[in-house]
Amino acid sequence: MTIDDKITATTTGTAVVAAAAAATTPTVITELVVFDFDETIVDCNSDTFINELAPDGGHIPDELYAEFLLNNRWTEYMAKVLGYLHSRGVRELDLRQCLKRMPFLVGMKDLITKLSATSAAAGPAVAVPVVNENNEQRNYELIIISDANSVFIGHYLEFNQLDKAFRNIYTNPATFDDTGCLKLTEYQYQNWCTTCARNLCKGHVLEEHIKRRAMEDNQSYSRISYVGDGSNDVCPALRLGPNDRVFARHGYPLDKRLANNADLKAKRYQFNNANDISAQMF
Ligand SMILES: [Mg+2]
Ligand SMILES: [Zn+2]
Repeated sequence: MTIDDKITATTTGTAVVAAAAAATTPTVITELVVFDFDETIVDCNSDTFINELAPDGGHIPDELYAEFLLNNRWTEYMAKVLGYLHSRGVRELDLRQCLKRMPFLVGMKDLITKLSATSAAAGPAVAVPVVNENNEQRNYELIIISDANSVFIGHYLEFNQLDKAFRNIYTNPATFDDTGCLKLTEYQYQNWCTTCARNLCKGHVLEEHIKRRAMEDNQSYSRISYVGDGSNDVCPALRLGPNDRVFARHGYPLDKRLANNADLKAKRYQFNNANDISAQMF
């Protein structure tokens, strides 16, 4: 067979498949893909990444951390760190420049770009319908549930042109006040889940998202895939069903706490980087 013959054969094959798919309207199925942010989308913890802005070689005063150890309220601690940085002259632009330097987990930008190319949130301009052999068109809906804050996540995604990729970002609200100090508010006050921190039960947020989408938009999901690394990802992971998937960063707290966990119903996959996720996802 010559090269020309191969090209003809390939073209013919593609044309046959395309004609078959066009014969009937494909069934649209949507998979919900939930991402954590710190140590998952970015290969660092955004909350401590900004420590480098502190004078004295990036050192945050010990007494602030000592307070956190007493009351275990991370968002409150972060609010104090941001106040401290502001008192030492750190302004909005400094924070934004710093956040830009956070590294993506290897392969993550490509994974999000690929997934969001099929999502409704990305808009029809970049939508790439993927129709499988069962005449199903698979869409992906992407959301973030994170205990970071809206400015850190929002700025990073915007800088990397991924801000349109996610339908919803559930995180602690943050705004700069008139003096340029970033102020944090806790996402919620919850007392029903002892696995999660008081300010954010990720499992509850996930269930509320699913309920709201069903009620308001009649949207259901063929499957849920959850991607995370931390202890605060355990609660949502355990709420998933046998058809769902949890991608847990290898060797991190989520991975360790799901190993041999009899309450886990979803399929568990480990990842070192986002290429490992892509290999299973598509
Ligand atoms: Mg994390
Ligand atoms: Zn919870």
